[in-house]
Amino acid sequence: ETIGATLARTVSTYADREALVECATGRRWTWVELDRDVAALARGLIGAGIEAGDRVGIWGPNSAEWTLVQLATARVGAILVNVNPSYRTHELSYAVNQSGMRMLVSATSFRTSDYRAMVEETAEHNPTLERVVLLDDPDSWAGLVAEGEGVGDDDLAAREAALRPDDAINIQYTSGTTGYPKGATLSHRNILNNGYLVGEVCGYTEADRVCIPVPFYHCFGMVMGNLACVTHGATMVIPAPGFDPALTLQAVSQERCTSLYGVPTMFIAEWALPDLASYDLSSVRTGIMAGSPCPEEMMKKLITAGIDEMTIAYGMTETSPVSTQTRRDDSLERKVGTVGRVCPHLEVKIVDPVSGDTVPRGEAGEFCTRGYSVMLGYWQDEEKTREAVDADGWMHTGDLGVMDEEGYVRITGRIKDMVIRGGENIYPREIEEFLYTHPDIEDVQVVGVPDAKYGEELCAWLRMRPGTEPLDAVGVRAYASGRLAHYKVPRYVMVVEEFPMTVTGKVRKVEMREVSTRELG
Ligand code: ATP
Ligand code: MG
Repeated sequence: ETIGATLARTVSTYADREALVECATGRRWTWVELDRDVAALARGLIGAGIEAGDRVGIWGPNSAEWTLVQLATARVGAILVNVNPSYRTHELSYAVNQSGMRMLVSATSFRTSDYRAMVEETAEHNPTLERVVLLDDPDSWAGLVAEGEGVGDDDLAAREAALRPDDAINIQYTSGTTGYPKGATLSHRNILNNGYLVGEVCGYTEADRVCIPVPFYHCFGMVMGNLACVTHGATMVIPAPGFDPALTLQAVSQERCTSLYGVPTMFIAEWALPDLASYDLSSVRTGIMAGSPCPEEMMKKLITAGIDEMTIAYGMTETSPVSTQTRRDDSLERKVGTVGRVCPHLEVKIVDPVSGDTVPRGEAGEFCTRGYSVMLGYWQDEEKTREAVDADGWMHTGDLGVMDEEGYVRITGRIKDMVIRGGENIYPREIEEFLYTHPDIEDVQVVGVPDAKYGEELCAWLRMRPGTEPLDAVGVRAYASGRLAHYKVPRYVMVVEEFPMTVTGKVRKVEMREVSTRELG
């Protein structure tokens, strides 16, 4: 099925129930109202000459218009190109060029960034970019919609009837955690099914209200958020354009959200708010923590705070994104310490990265997955696609995992992040989990830095809790003494205010390695 066909069914089933809420402006849409606005925009796209398969970019923080553009492009068969909100002209130009973008729908500005100026500069140098629409400029938006006035409902219906589930619908650049972002090309079948099945695991119905502080530009927001809601008739709640811990919890209280999403650092920031107790979070039943390693302590806090159906999901942009997820009836130990079991209709295996053979249960290897969720490929990069997806259709994730006898998976790190010190393989994740138990440490990351004697040494980056004394290497050694093997104790310690982050809220270990190497070298 296509996204348009699914949306049509939800609209007729849940007609006047709430579909979308944008907290920053107080605007609200029922499914019927959303359908009306999506259709008007879809006709505008057709009127503006957008054909099926044309690339239409979207650049901006979360907003109701982002969702409208997502659904309208899907209805007309255009390929939506998600552009990272933290990009600047150089990277924007790359995305415009690499995807062959014809139209860009952009915000005018976000925080201190003047998007309009950057878009103008980019358009000058990229003649294929024919049209720019400003989504928060009412005249610009109305101009696009007006172009659809001559386009009939029949034209839109004919366009939709010609679309196929395996058509490309979306190009998403990966987070760029480990290097240059790659454009994963995804189909209706890829993302619609993933959104639906993630929603099934969370037990969504039309009564659910999902708080989505994670960026739409990433699968977490637009698939696990928006499409999970569209496929179940649940309400999408946008707490703020960019992430803000207080506004997120305020949205949960005021909108009586039943589900809360976030990457681990978001939950950490929310639960560190001094006025945490003043928010009414009693409506929250479930949610998803995903995107990077989920600290057990944080998961435990959420579950013991009454969000006992909170789940952890694991996945990547290339797999639409989710491959495994914890379930409501899992034991507490598995809910906090694993990324759950394989999701419905998918296969997973853990292989030896060198031989490619499946390793015995309980042993670490590369996590691979196969099924409907695997991307069509990297946009115009067959070579990279072949490196990632093998001839049998298995996506090689580059992540290290261990699967137990009953199929529960633990992610132990990325192949690229593994540190080899004096011949010992060290998984930074294990040390991070350990240091996270220190009462003065708010958040911690561990990276490897080059060392003449051991090949690599460990460097721990620490964010201290307010009002505590910064720890140094001696302090860390004292805390680890007798509890961690000597070769796993970080030789270097850096105390910082913030970690370098991607806009999806992931810590950029590549950058931390570079900085540590420079400062310690
Ligand atoms: P790039 O591929 O550009 O380096 P990226 O891999 O961070 O960036 P995404 O596709 O956004 O880009 O993220 C997928 C990755 O995030 C996974 O491969 C995995 O390393 C990590 N990840 C996602 N969910 C989890 C989780 N629950 N636990 C541990 N790691 C996770
Ligand atoms: Mg990746």
